[in-house]
Amino acid sequence: MDKKTNIDSVGLSRRGFLVLSAAAAVALAAGSFPNTVKGAESHVLPPLPYPENALEPIITARTIGFHYGKHHRGYVDNLNKLVAGTEYASLPLERIIAASARHQDKTAIFNNAAQVWNHTFYWKSMKPKGGGEPPTALKQMMADSFGSVDDCKKEFASAAVSQFGSGWAWLVLAGNKLKIVKTANADTPLTANIKPLLTIDVWEHAYYLDYQNRRADYVNAVLDRLINWEFALENAEQ
Ligand code: MN
Repeated sequence: MDKKTNIDSVGLSRRGFLVLSAAAAVALAAGSFPNTVKGAESHVLPPLPYPENALEPIITARTIGFHYGKHHRGYVDNLNKLVAGTEYASLPLERIIAASARHQDKTAIFNNAAQVWNHTFYWKSMKPKGGGEPPTALKQMMADSFGSVDDCKKEFASAAVSQFGSGWAWLVLAGNKLKIVKTANADTPLTANIKPLLTIDVWEHAYYLDYQNRRADYVNAVLDRLINWEFALENAEQ
């Protein structure tokens, strides 16, 4: 199977991760990740990068209150309970995601760990007064990969709107090309040897209080008025 076609046409899956993560497996086998990180025993909810009402009127404080205060916090609390006393207890978050994705019987740990990471990344993917013109270097990358900024945004929106059920749409860097991918439920491109640059949460809890069933309105408003292009460029340049 053509790996690129797989990413583009059907989105990433945990199976896709297994196919794509040969480099990560080599890195793990070579011991290039630390086995333990001091202080990583208990995962904490990272602070929001802005006040809960800072994204209004596009995303209300009420939505952020539940989404960050209940859902994101819930994933952190569940993860801490699930890893307590296991071999994952002392691992940093990204290592837990990589390790649990390999094991069918660790789905609950994978789901909660990936959702902690995905949400932290989602909050950073937006900012008050975001949207608008991307920085020049990112614009150039978009032109090279999609034809134009508008084409990039259209593909991003289309992936976000067409994701069936719960999941995420992502702008990623794969090699030296920007791509749009979508993932279901907790799945994340983090482990797929491609670099996430931005994400949009399309679980209903992300928009239902504000937009009910109008997912496209939420997605387009985020892309036009909140998306943090500078964060994407920082990630691309890392
Ligand atoms: Mn969410």
